[in-house]
Parts: sequence; structure tokens; C-alpha cells
Amino acid sequence: MPKLSDPRSLTPSFPPPQLLIGGTLRDPVEGGRLQVVNPATGERLPDAAAATAADVDLAVKAARAAFESGPWPSMTPVARRRVLRRFADLLWQKREALGLVESLNNGKTYKDAVLGDVGPAAATLDYYADVATKLEGEVLPVPGPFHTYTLREPVGVVGAIVPWNYPLSLATWKLGPSLAVGCTVVLKPSELTPHTAMALGQLALEAGLPDGVLNVVPGLGHQAGEALARHGDVDKVSFTGSPRTARALLHASADTNLKRLSLELGGKSPQVVLPDADLDAAVEGCFWGIFGNKGEVCNAGSRVIAHAQVYDALVERLVAKARALKVGDPLDPSTEMGAQVSEKQLTSILALVESGKAQGAKLLTGGARDTAGAKAKGAFMQPTVFGEVKSSMTIAQQEIFGPVLCCMRVQDEAEAIALANDTSYGLAAGLWTRDVAHAHALARKVKAGVVWLNCFGEFDDAAPFGGVKTSGWGRDLGPHALEQYTQVKTVWTQLNR
Ligand code: NAD
Repeated sequence: MPKLSDPRSLTPSFPPPQLLIGGTLRDPVEGGRLQVVNPATGERLPDAAAATAADVDLAVKAARAAFESGPWPSMTPVARRRVLRRFADLLWQKREALGLVESLNNGKTYKDAVLGDVGPAAATLDYYADVATKLEGEVLPVPGPFHTYTLREPVGVVGAIVPWNYPLSLATWKLGPSLAVGCTVVLKPSELTPHTAMALGQLALEAGLPDGVLNVVPGLGHQAGEALARHGDVDKVSFTGSPRTARALLHASADTNLKRLSLELGGKSPQVVLPDADLDAAVEGCFWGIFGNKGEVCNAGSRVIAHAQVYDALVERLVAKARALKVGDPLDPSTEMGAQVSEKQLTSILALVESGKAQGAKLLTGGARDTAGAKAKGAFMQPTVFGEVKSSMTIAQQEIFGPVLCCMRVQDEAEAIALANDTSYGLAAGLWTRDVAHAHALARKVKAGVVWLNCFGEFDDAAPFGGVKTSGWGRDLGPHALEQYTQVKTVWTQLNR
């Protein structure tokens, strides 16, 4: 693991409040600004630009021109690989500078920002630089005097709409595969965390990405986001965010050009702990599965479903660890959990905690905002654990997106699997048992896009990630993601004319 500088010795550098369109930084047409806040202090950070429909239209036009007549789509995959590698290298070189900006903007610890967001973003670009050189078509065994084959072509102009919890990493989950296959992109970061996306766009230009191939339009969801989703010249929208916004995107596609969509939405991921589990490992996995990145993780293991034989021992240890977790200044290297992304997010978490109390869940620790010392100025939450949670409770069904763990006691494995599947979501699941053969059998019974056996939250660019049910459809990462950004063309050739 690379040694990190002490961020308190670094000076943050924010991009100017502009948009990146057609290779040029420009002011938004209507001159709008986004007010950006440091959630750990409540202080204002420099503003970002706020794009509206007119800017999005310019960005889509630039992306369309770059796709139809620019060099990028027709370059060989190997030539594109060179540019993407440079892009990945530049991002890696800037990881501390960008990690500092993200930590100040998002409230996550500096270490998480550098090693959990910027670093992985660079790795994702590097991975896709290579993978796209391996894309192949097929020759088809049709009868008759024909030579019939398939081409894999880029879908065209991609709208990438991303949330605030891993601003750079989730952006590159979309940019990596789409750029690698020759698409052009309009990226719309979250209004809460716009700065690093602008920096990313500038690094892309520096790396040699031709003008218009990557356009960046920070802005509000119902303005810039909706304009992108409703634009008739966008061929595909790749989205990570909430099911509510996903529904709006589906309507937008249906109302306009039937653009393709891929949707990576939230989750209510279960962690099933069976009596024969390695308890030490399960405690670690269950703990960081919810308290990592302050619970603002789509695949957070927010429901621990433990067999009665291990429930008390497991929950007691989770509570002790939650009480000991160091919450505080995201820039302090000893901090383990920073601030929630915004006051609004904290308010939403606290409302769900109140519903848990009202519906009879047993509050074992936490349950309130953390106002100790300097934390009084920021959006800090106490690490919270509820026991004796029932599946019918709101906190067992609704995504909290914060550091709140719901523990449920079950009498047998069948009940555990039934509860694991008893939400509208299906993003990820953890299963803890020493009987690995049995774990494989259970993995098939869990309705989730990703199952972690005796581990949790493992990611790799080679491993597809995405959900089932209301957690969405389509897969990011791995070679599977290339399918989202390519379309198959079948070519028939008559051989005896
Ligand atoms: P959100 O859906 O409110 O916003 C996500 C993005 O969509 C933002 O850029 C926002 O500006 C934009 N947006 C909002 N309304 C829009 C509209 N009408 N049209 C077009 N764009 C619009 O979600 P959020 O609050 O930013 O992020 C948290 C959510 O994202 C959580 O539910 C979380 O589970 C989910 N998430 C999922 C994954 C995953 O990989 N499955 C990863 C991270 C976050």
C-alpha cells in the first residue's frame, strides 16, 4: 500500500466553476453555480458551475460530432489503449490532490478517498484500456453460400449519470468501458460532489483524449440530469443512483428516443451468519460491511441475519466495535469514519433511526448525530446498531445509506435465506460458514447480483458488479460491461455473385 502524505500539509486546488464541452472550459449558458459544502465543517468550498438544458445540449452536440467525425471511434483499439493508459497514469499521479478535494467535499476520510476512490478509478481505466483490445466478432454458421459475421460497434453518445458516494470510481466504471470501445460521453456528476469530475475531464484532455470525447456537465439532477436523460441524441444512459431517479430515467427514455439504459441502484444487502462461521472473520466482515465509507455504500451489508446460536456473541462484538470506532475529522489520519455527505443525508438517516425505535427495534448503540467537540459543526453520525430487528420494519426494508446496522435473529438456515431475500432489493449478499461446499449451494438461493462467501465488499475490475430486482440491471466492471456500450451488427455477404 503506498504511503500517504499527511493531507493537512497539502493545499487543496479546486477547478474553476466551468463546464468541459468540446475540449474547452466554458461558463454555463445561464451562469448558474452549485454551492458546494464541506460536510465535516459546514463551510463553503469553491462553487462549481451548474449546467442547464442549454449546456447539456451543447455537450451532446460536441459528443455527437466527436463520435460521427472525430478520430476516436475509428482509432484502433491499441491506439485508444495508449491514451487510456496515459489517462490512468495521470489520474494515479494526481491521487493525493484529488483525494484531498474529495475528502473535503464528500466527508469521507482522506485515506478512503485516495485508496478507495481515486486509486481504483485509475485502475479501472487501466483495465479497460486493455480489455477493449480483446473485443472480437464471430463468423456465423449459416447455411447457403454466405459469409456471415458480427461486428461489435460502439453504441454512440453515452450519458453517464453518477452519484456522490464514490464520485471518481463510479465515473470510471462508466468511462472505462465506453471510451475503450470508441463511444463519446457526457458525464453528469452529482451536484454534491462536482469538483473531481471536472478535474478528471481535464486530465483526459491532457492524456490526449480528442476534444468532445469526454464532456463534463455538473448540475442539478432535475436540470442537467433530466436534460441528458431526455435528450433525443443520446444513445444510452448509464446510471448509478437511487431507484427513484431510475424510474424517472425510464420515463425519459420512453418519452423520447427509447435510449438504452443500464441501472446500478441501491441495496439492502444481507450478511447471513451461520452457527459454524469463523466468528472473528464474520465480525470483521459484518462490521466494515456497514461502517466502511460511513455506510454510504450501495452494497453496504446493512442487515446482519444471524443464527440464534451465534447471534448474541456476534452482536455483542459488533456493538463493542461500533462504540470504539473513531469518528471525526476526515483529514486526521487516525480517523476511521468521517462525516455523512450532507446535512440532508444525515437528516434522512436520523429519520430512519427514529422509525426503527418507534417500530420496536432495540437500539444497542448510537442512534443520534455526533456533536462531540468540533464535530458539532459537521454532519457526523454515531455508528448505530439495532438488535431484534423484524423484517417488516422500515429499517429492514428501506436503504438507509448511513452507518446503521440492523441485526436480525433467526432460528434456522431456511429462515435466514428467506429473510435475506425479503426486500425489494438484490444487489449483494454475504454468507459466513465454514462449510464451503454448502456455501456454494446457498449462494444460488440468494437473490443478488453479487455473493461474497466468507468475505464482504471485495471488488476487482475483472469481476462484474450489479444487481437484480430493484437494485437495477446491467453490469458494471469486467468484460460484461462492454456489452452495455456496444451493439452487434450482423453482416451477410453472398459468396457466389
Ligand atoms: P440520486 O438518484 O438522487 O442521484 C444520482 C445522480 O442522478 C446524481 O447525479 C443526480 O444529480 C442525478 N439525478 C437526480 N435526479 C435526476 C433526474 N430526474 N434525472 C436525471 N438525473 C437525475 O442518488 P444519490 O442520492 O446521488 O446517490 C445515492 C443512491 O445511489 C443510493 O440509493 C445508492 O444506493 C445508490 N448507489 C448505487 C450504486 C450501485 O452501484 N448500485 C452505487 C452508488 C450509489
